[in-house]
Amino acid sequence: MMKTILVVNAGSSSIKFMLFDLENSELRRRMKGQIEGIGARLRLTAFEAAESPIVDEARASPDSAGADEAVGMLEAWLETYLAGALPAAVGHRVVHGGSRFEKPVLIDEENLSALEDLVPLAPLHQPINLGPIKSMRRRWPTTPQVACFDSAFHRSQAEVVQRYALPETLWQAGIRRYGFHGLSYEYIARTLPEVAPDIAKRKVIVAHLGNGASLCAMNDGRSVETSMGFTALDGLPMGTRPGRLDPGVLLYLVKQKGLSGSDLEKLLYHESGLKGLSGISNDVRDLLASDDPRATLALTYFCHRTAAEIAAMAVGLDGLDALVFTAGIGENVPEIRKDICNRLGVLGIKLDEAANNRHAQRISPKA
Ligand code: ADP
Repeated sequence: MMKTILVVNAGSSSIKFMLFDLENSELRRRMKGQIEGIGARLRLTAFEAAESPIVDEARASPDSAGADEAVGMLEAWLETYLAGALPAAVGHRVVHGGSRFEKPVLIDEENLSALEDLVPLAPLHQPINLGPIKSMRRRWPTTPQVACFDSAFHRSQAEVVQRYALPETLWQAGIRRYGFHGLSYEYIARTLPEVAPDIAKRKVIVAHLGNGASLCAMNDGRSVETSMGFTALDGLPMGTRPGRLDPGVLLYLVKQKGLSGSDLEKLLYHESGLKGLSGISNDVRDLLASDDPRATLALTYFCHRTAAEIAAMAVGLDGLDALVFTAGIGENVPEIRKDICNRLGVLGIKLDEAANNRHAQRISPKA
């Protein structure tokens, strides 16, 4: 029987998963799928090589809506799919490894409790990530569970980069720039030597532009600086988060307008960014399709701020040899890549428009 590795990425509205066959320490993807509709109506779909799904199953009952039910649905279906042959190990994406976890870790009682201790640092994401770990430990007690952290890749940064200009006691208390999207950046750092060996060892800024968005400055494949900080709110404007914001705005809203912590959380995580600016949508596709001037304003803001943050990051790198775009917007929207690049002539960034429009791997002119 072929050994398999299961990979789980649990988010607030969906659980995505992939199953890999493990053959002579080579991984080959066998199947990918997701459960969507957490908080509403659960729908499980999965695909092997063919275009039609091997399963497409919805839970009609309106009370089978929570994250726990979604994990249970996945576990039960996998047991059937694998005919009882459980995965050899499960890898989980976990947003926060704090300052302690600098690489993936095998979950045991002690590590799990250390990860629970980090919940206050990422109250919206960490519990969702830990849910499937806890559930699968209970259901498949002999299957190793490994946590892979979105913060770990950035632990190579210098202390001065990880600090805020706050009193020492707050640094000691863990108030520092952790940075996120590390699994995406690590993938890019690992892939560049194959796809672009001429830049892999040099000074590169990676723009992970999705519904969540951040930058990572890398030198020789190591993280030097990143735009997200203590939480995933800082840095670039995002689908529904504002990015860099004068903290005085928050003080004003609390002290003068009486907003509570929960009000601020809602404002900052769900009502700001492209959605807040446009009043239309957090999705770039909707904004590109709209002729409302607020949609244009939101997209222009996104490009202006992203370019400005890239320029700031080039200082930390002391130069820039290449810019890499990734994630939903970075991979799919030539108009956004063009607008950002056009703002960065000062850094020597040049765009080959035809290559950009056809989504070529290299979108700058050949030197
Ligand atoms: P996250 O993983 O942070 O939820 P993604 O990396 O999947 O986000 O990016 C989602 C965003 O990417 C969408 O909200 C949308 O703005 C944009 N996007 C994805 N696909 C396309 C596309 N084909 N055309 C334009 N924009 C797209």
